[in-house]
Amino acid sequence: MNEFKNILDMHPNPCVVHVHFKPLYANDAFASFSGLGCVEEILKMKSLMVLINPEEREDAIARYQQALVDDKTPAKVIAHTDLTGNPVLVEITDKPVIWQGQQALCTFISIVTDTIKKQQDLKQLSEQDPLTLIHNRRYIHNVLNDLRKNKNTESYLQAIIDIDYFKQINDQYGHLAGDKVLQQLTQILKHFTQPGDHLARLGGEEFILLIQSNSQDLVMARLEDIRSTIEKNNFTIICNDTGDNTPVHCTVSIGVSAINLDKNVDLSYGQSDKALYIAKQQGRNRIISLNSV
Ligand code: GH3
Ligand code: MG
Ligand code: MG
Repeated sequence: MNEFKNILDMHPNPCVVHVHFKPLYANDAFASFSGLGCVEEILKMKSLMVLINPEEREDAIARYQQALVDDKTPAKVIAHTDLTGNPVLVEITDKPVIWQGQQALCTFISIVTDTIKKQQDLKQLSEQDPLTLIHNRRYIHNVLNDLRKNKNTESYLQAIIDIDYFKQINDQYGHLAGDKVLQQLTQILKHFTQPGDHLARLGGEEFILLIQSNSQDLVMARLEDIRSTIEKNNFTIICNDTGDNTPVHCTVSIGVSAINLDKNVDLSYGQSDKALYIAKQQGRNRIISLNSV
């Protein structure tokens, strides 16, 4: 028993041993985590429940019961409010122990706010296109995989939007001017994006818009608005030779298909790609829709 107490005392993380949340033993780290001056103050508490956010209490009781019967209960991240009122994320690990002859639980706490924030920042970075700052292809893959995993039954349409003769803009005005066109076109696409849509740059001058809808007509009307707005838009770039602002015009071709979540992602890209290919062949600056595979 003393050895176990010594280990807890040396442990840098907050640890507490309790029976139904009545504390039996705690280390100094737990006392300062709780905001109480010393371990003795903790041991005087009738219940640790006051330290748990009200909305987490029911779950804490269920976790307690579970941990007693299963000593491999996975760690859980929960929201906690420290005594200065700061919201923090803590990872809780519960281990059943026999403490002075009675069944108890040893709870280890790790503050993981920074780790979780870093993970979220990394995920966001890995799903972002650096030039236009909208999502990238990986994000769309993740969205489609999540929809498939959750066995989503709603209907989705995808539109691949590709700038016509974009290479000529690069050739005539330079790569930086081409970048400006991509950024300004992104703003137009964002303007037409509605809540629930997913917009991404697939790469080069190719974008994708994922729309959840049962009405193909409605989606086609929205895409037509996008196509005609781009056709009429003055893209402003700085001309390499004169250094002046120069208006540039461009058009887009759009390939549309329904997404079949039963098939793999690449196959359903295939249908929109095929539709896009037909739009290019038929003269560009148009929308072609094909059924899903
Ligand atoms: P099409 O009408 O058939 O789509 O012709 P296109 O010229 O638009 O297509 P193509 O595939 O021949 O050329 C695409 C060009 O896009 C070639 C490539 O250099 C350029 N590109 C790809 N990524 C970028 C980028 O990030 N910035 C700029 N400025 N250009 C890019
Ligand atoms: Mg193109
Ligand atoms: Mg292309």
